[in-house]
Amino acid sequence: MGASQGAARQAEDVIPLARPVVGEEEERAVIEVLRSGQLSLGPRVVEFERLFSARVGAPLACAVSSGTAGLHLALRAAGVGEGDEVITSPFSFVASANAALYERARPVFADIDPITLNLDPRAAGAAVGGRTRALLPVHIFGYPADMPAFERIASDHGLAIVEDACEALGASHADGTPVGGRGHPSVFGFYANKQLTTGEGGMVTLDDPAQKQLIDSERNQGRALDMGWLDHDRLGFNYRLSDIACAIGIAQLERLDGMLAARARVAGLYREALEGIEGLELPCPDRGGDTRGWFVFVVQLPRGVDRDGVVRALAAVGIQSKPYLSAIHLMSFYRERFGHREGEFPVCEDVAARSLALPFFPAMSEGQVARVAQQLGAVLERTGT
Ligand SMILES: *Cc1c(COP(=O)(O)O)cnc(C)c1O
Repeated sequence: MGASQGAARQAEDVIPLARPVVGEEEERAVIEVLRSGQLSLGPRVVEFERLFSARVGAPLACAVSSGTAGLHLALRAAGVGEGDEVITSPFSFVASANAALYERARPVFADIDPITLNLDPRAAGAAVGGRTRALLPVHIFGYPADMPAFERIASDHGLAIVEDACEALGASHADGTPVGGRGHPSVFGFYANKQLTTGEGGMVTLDDPAQKQLIDSERNQGRALDMGWLDHDRLGFNYRLSDIACAIGIAQLERLDGMLAARARVAGLYREALEGIEGLELPCPDRGGDTRGWFVFVVQLPRGVDRDGVVRALAAVGIQSKPYLSAIHLMSFYRERFGHREGEFPVCEDVAARSLALPFFPAMSEGQVARVAQQLGAVLERTGT
């Protein structure tokens, strides 16, 4: 076999980390919007907001251009400003901490729970100080954060809550509330690897009409709903989501149950296939009535394993994998700006050093899961732990 032929064969066989489910319904929805002539600020935005808020049991929702934009506007709506502190998880995608910085507030980290990998309410409570304005728990990897505990802390200290639910569409709490439906501004993201995608996009769900009005205005250059075209009564941004994106989102909502079920099926296959590998830690099973909305399948390698070597060995046999996530406080920008160092949040640092995301998407076949499991097992055996 020639080199180019080999490369072609390999590209075909590669199991990617993620792959969105989009089809004729999304294509039709996009074409309809294109033909309508109204590509933005049109009826699809309102419809997507209505359907999405109903889906997570929230009275209201605001479509925005990304999860990050949603976090920014939600923190502003919660009253976070210069000099305030926002308590959040160091084990997250960097956007959840950055959003506080956009308002010259300070993200204050607290360590995570070793089982759920979510912000530990006790650690968060201990981090509350005189400048604390808000709690920003992240439902990491789709596992519900302990909201009843955060709600108690918030009410004891008079704090706002903003939830980063960007990874948690489809998750629900023990009392049956879907994540995003507890009334605090909760932010979802629709990047292509999320449970639901619009390419890029986001949504804030909430229950306060005044906050909804503020976010709707600030996403659109600070224009009030009843104002003239070029009249603006406050500072705003362009964080709008187009009708094209919203049309894709509406089509995705229609297939959401099927996509979530398919993700849960793949997670179940992984659990069976990986259970026998010694020292490998799998995502925690649902406990106490909390239900994960499956987003990624992240395992923790045994201590001492060369993770980069594992990534390379898997790549060599056509399997994508990725260290996921990094500890935010140890990123160079955060170290330099805030003087963070190793040892501050030991649970987070241990988890971040060992976690590896495996290929995970709704259309993944049993054979592909078996191939990943078999190769991962073989690599770990070779590296001799
Ligand atoms: C995806 C994600 C976001 C938002 O990402 P965008 O790319 O801005 O949509 C925020 N927080 C977490 C934890 C995420 O996984």
